[in-house]
Amino acid sequence: MKLLKCAILSLAAALTFSGCSDNEKVNRSFFAMDTYMSVTAYGSGNQQAVNNSEQLVISLENLWSVTKQNSDIGLVNSSDGNSTVVSPRTAEIISYAKDMNVRTGGALDISLYPVVKEWGFTNGNYHIPDDARISELLKYVNAKDIAVKDNWVTLRKGMMIDLGAVAKGYAADLIAEQLVSEGVSSAAIDLGGNVRTVGKKPNGEKWVIGLRSPESDGLFGTLSTDETAIATSGGYERYFKSDGKRYCHILDPKTGRPAESGLLSVSVIAPEAKLCDALSTALFVLGADKAEELRKSLGGFEYIIVTDKHEVLVSSGVFDGFELDSSCSDWKVTKI
Ligand code: AMP
Ligand code: MG
Repeated sequence: MKLLKCAILSLAAALTFSGCSDNEKVNRSFFAMDTYMSVTAYGSGNQQAVNNSEQLVISLENLWSVTKQNSDIGLVNSSDGNSTVVSPRTAEIISYAKDMNVRTGGALDISLYPVVKEWGFTNGNYHIPDDARISELLKYVNAKDIAVKDNWVTLRKGMMIDLGAVAKGYAADLIAEQLVSEGVSSAAIDLGGNVRTVGKKPNGEKWVIGLRSPESDGLFGTLSTDETAIATSGGYERYFKSDGKRYCHILDPKTGRPAESGLLSVSVIAPEAKLCDALSTALFVLGADKAEELRKSLGGFEYIIVTDKHEVLVSSGVFDGFELDSSCSDWKVTKI
């Protein structure tokens, strides 16, 4: 599955950078946070800045990995109800995730980790927990019970957190910030489907971002855009099948079970990648109607949603930049 993702990302990158000849492209691709990542900038002098992006991601992974016992998250999760001092960046991202939990009506909840683990999505030992086990574990799920004060984080005893739904978007923003501070004016960052572009392409053309098909190795469409961020969440990224039924890795915190909102994938477009990452996961849980309600009430983002009926719902702010791939010509595109 990871190799497949890599192929798609390179295809997207090829599309993104096609047609440019007036400025040399420098790139670094690497594997971190359990996914393939790629940072590309224009300007031959920018190789070091691009390389530094990998170092930044590695340092964030060391802080946020849920499997490293000595990471900030590892220490918080083994704190047994006691307060843990973490780095300012960790305190910041946990506060942000708490905030997004409120803004999404609880659909994004980083304290779902014990339930995600029980289903086997963390190590591939998949199984369907019984109702009693899910109810028991849900007692420890509620992002509002995570306390963050200065750089101290306290969980209610028994709780555990995982930043998997927000870390890559957050990291993409930090990379963009770092690249700009190092003098880069034109770049594209792709952290496992969390994309952030910096500035304009040197030839003045728009960025063209490939949107991965939830059902094949190809793309279902492209988005032409100015500087932006975009993240995609989908059930196809990690799932298992039992008795012919598909169980995906994005869970509904209300039920402790895989989200069944009738969607195949959700791409969210906004200026910041952290918002895109948090919202793409949350909207996948909430479904199309609530996604639109949230766009109206929260504002500040657009979406491209693929439903399980092959309807592509494109919100008005990105409709003009969206183009359906010819391989999906029987899919119905609707402007929302
Ligand atoms: P993403 O790929 O950004 O949509 O994040 C999905 C990952 O976040 C999953 O693999 C789980 O580890 C975790 N997760 C699943 N459901 C949720 C949820 N409702 N809120 C927060 N994290 C979740
Ligand atoms: Mg996410």
